[in-house]
Amino acid sequence: MAEQNPFVCYRLHQVSSCSQPALVRYCNVWDGLEEIAYTMIAFSSAVPLVAGTRSLPSVSSSRAKVTMIASGKMRTLVTGAAGRTGRLALERLCERDEFDARGMVRSKAGVEGRVKDELHEFLVEGDVTDIESLKAAMDGMDAVIILTSAVPVPLPTEEGAPPSFTYAEGAFPQVIDYDGGVNQIEAAKSAGVKHVVFVGSMGSTDDSNMLNRIGPNGNILRFKRKAEEYLMKSGLPFTVINPGGLLNDPAGERQLQVGKNDEMYTLYGRPSIPRGDVAELAVQAVLCENAKNKALDVLAKPPGDGSQTTDFEALFAQAGGEL
Ligand code: NAP
Repeated sequence: MAEQNPFVCYRLHQVSSCSQPALVRYCNVWDGLEEIAYTMIAFSSAVPLVAGTRSLPSVSSSRAKVTMIASGKMRTLVTGAAGRTGRLALERLCERDEFDARGMVRSKAGVEGRVKDELHEFLVEGDVTDIESLKAAMDGMDAVIILTSAVPVPLPTEEGAPPSFTYAEGAFPQVIDYDGGVNQIEAAKSAGVKHVVFVGSMGSTDDSNMLNRIGPNGNILRFKRKAEEYLMKSGLPFTVINPGGLLNDPAGERQLQVGKNDEMYTLYGRPSIPRGDVAELAVQAVLCENAKNKALDVLAKPPGDGSQTTDFEALFAQAGGEL
């Protein structure tokens, strides 16, 4: 149950500048029905393992594809592989011939019902607080997709009071997102990994963002951004992907739009993107030449506005190399 709660929290991502009373209005009135629907999905044990369609766009760059095939499969590890986006990334890696996929989870014993049974054989164990376990998980990998995150847990609140969250002891963003990010980057370096894709979050330019205010010195967005900056200075080829609020809506249907530095934060009212689209983008980042050494915000345009993104080389070409 607690694993799903961050979803509610991240819905607040979209109203991060609201005052507390405004936030309550947001949750209860303005967006009431949709919020309740999403909350029910988030709290349901039946959260779909596959959030989106399985119709995968073809690899967008024939140049990139030819390079991969000529040099054999891309050995690619996704961390946070039992997470709601990580498991989708693992599925997509396993579906494609270009990859020899692995998924890192904290404990294989905890993945039942979250990672598809047939993918359990691709799992390895590792913890971002234990660099030796990371080095072992990344040994022999060409690319790593980082999809780990500190996970907010709800605090008990009085009936009618606004939702309130914190983090478990030892699992605050400084430990998981920054120190854990640095550990993953350093482990990737020492394992000879050639490309690291880091999934962070939009909103990280604003220290007063609601998400930064979860927990004492939570600052989740700030610590994610610090880890991104560390990666970008690490000397490792990188792709930093900062999505808007994540949805369990079908993937592969909406047009993706890239930007930087939260410039798109209020473009469509509330930046959002299906988790399956983020998973796809992270996988495409490994394949696309234009994704190398790029940092981008990404959102999905409202349904019906534009057509499904299929040319990922062109999408990454629009991004720059700085946060
Ligand atoms: P999620 O379901 O919360 O998954 C996070 C994963 O991190 C979990 O699988 C968890 O492992 C793993 N993790 C936590 N501590 C770890 C540790 N010490 N060692 C190894 N793994 C650890 O993630 P999500 O909601 O799909 O989000 C994916 C990414 O997008 C995250 O970086 C998130 O911050 C970012 N993002 C989210 C939103 C949103 O709306 N939710 C918006 C923008 C960006 P266990 O499975 O073992 O618990």
